[in-house]
Amino acid sequence: MMRRALATLIVLLAAQAASAQAPRYSLLLKGGHVIDPKNGVDAVMDVAIADGKVAAVAANIDAAQAARVANVAGLYVVPGLIDLHAHVFIGSEPDSYLSNGDVGAHADTHSFRSGQTTLVDVGGPGWRNYAQFKANIVDRARTRVLAFLNIVGHGMRGGPYEQDLSDMDAKLTAQRILANKDVLVGIKVAHYQGAEWEPVTRAVEAGRRADVPVMIDFGGNDPPQSLDALLNTHLRPGDILTHMYAHVRGRHPIVNAQGQVEPYVLAARKRGVLFDVGHGGGSFLFRQAVPATQQGFWPDIISTDLHTGSQNAGMKDILNVMSKMLVLGMPVNDVIRANTARVAEVIKRPELGHLGVGAEGDVAVLALRKGEFGFIDSSGNRMPGNQKLECELTVKGGQVVWDLNGRSHTLWSEQPVEDMNAPPPARRRTR
Ligand SMILES: [Zn+2]
Repeated sequence: MMRRALATLIVLLAAQAASAQAPRYSLLLKGGHVIDPKNGVDAVMDVAIADGKVAAVAANIDAAQAARVANVAGLYVVPGLIDLHAHVFIGSEPDSYLSNGDVGAHADTHSFRSGQTTLVDVGGPGWRNYAQFKANIVDRARTRVLAFLNIVGHGMRGGPYEQDLSDMDAKLTAQRILANKDVLVGIKVAHYQGAEWEPVTRAVEAGRRADVPVMIDFGGNDPPQSLDALLNTHLRPGDILTHMYAHVRGRHPIVNAQGQVEPYVLAARKRGVLFDVGHGGGSFLFRQAVPATQQGFWPDIISTDLHTGSQNAGMKDILNVMSKMLVLGMPVNDVIRANTARVAEVIKRPELGHLGVGAEGDVAVLALRKGEFGFIDSSGNRMPGNQKLECELTVKGGQVVWDLNGRSHTLWSEQPVEDMNAPPPARRRTR
């Protein structure tokens, strides 16, 4: 008995000694300007991460308490950005557009370098091919990939698939979402050409059954269906109109021919319908965005509509879209909120989009560069601007996943020469 008690005591003492030596935090971001809209933080502070979560946000946290320290003075430190409108369901199926085709983007090659830790694929998969999306994309990406299920069972496969009313099933869509709430956070309607309201009403019905929001990419009928009816009759508070600053054939723009934001659009916002940028390849016009924002009609959510077309044109990445909003006069705090706290609220993920203690350890460190820049809209027209956001460092779940200038890394000259003849476990792994 005595021997066992003594052994236990020795183990306890050893554990105590080890914990006394082990740094309290795995990572410390030091001296940055923290903007955390949800928690009302807008000041120079340090952010400490432990066990993959936010562990402390305070002025002057002792660097000796952290295993890794990154000096981020002069930079913005914000919650990991969430993109509410991305397309990442890539695959090799011919003619499959944004549902296992080759028009979407690879999540990890795009996300972290733009400060994004969560991408929401909107409408790539439908209830029929959700399992493939989960296995091929969600489970393989380091980026947190969530999704709005398409009301079309086959998802966003383009062509006749997206016009098939018989493949838009509210019950089966809701069932798939209810069984996969860890990934599925909403429902998407897009690209329908026709005068029927069925795609919208079935999506809203599925949204009611699964208690998730609906996002609408509206328009495609000639003459256009009533945007007023969509916003003020069909959609519920919390549902989302994407491509808010678009002006395309088949959809009424939010700014009318007299240059005014339509009164019914203002009424929709008042009743809680949300407006998302969804920049994309053809859905952001300065002719819409400038008068709308001059009249105070800012986005609830700023998003990319990421795909191979938009990322190589005027959209580029989320930071470029956020920079456009800054140049249009949106306060930086509001721009950050529209990519973090507001999005987390929409997708009902309270652990994301903020830097409160205990929140997911997702952080983006952004530089606001000053200089002469230019921004392009969907019509190919340019707007000059004098500021632009750039991502310096991204942390996901406590891990540094992007570090533009090596701020979190040790100096090479201070490290010992590595023994390449050492047995494999002693060697540093690349990942
Ligand atoms: Zn889209």
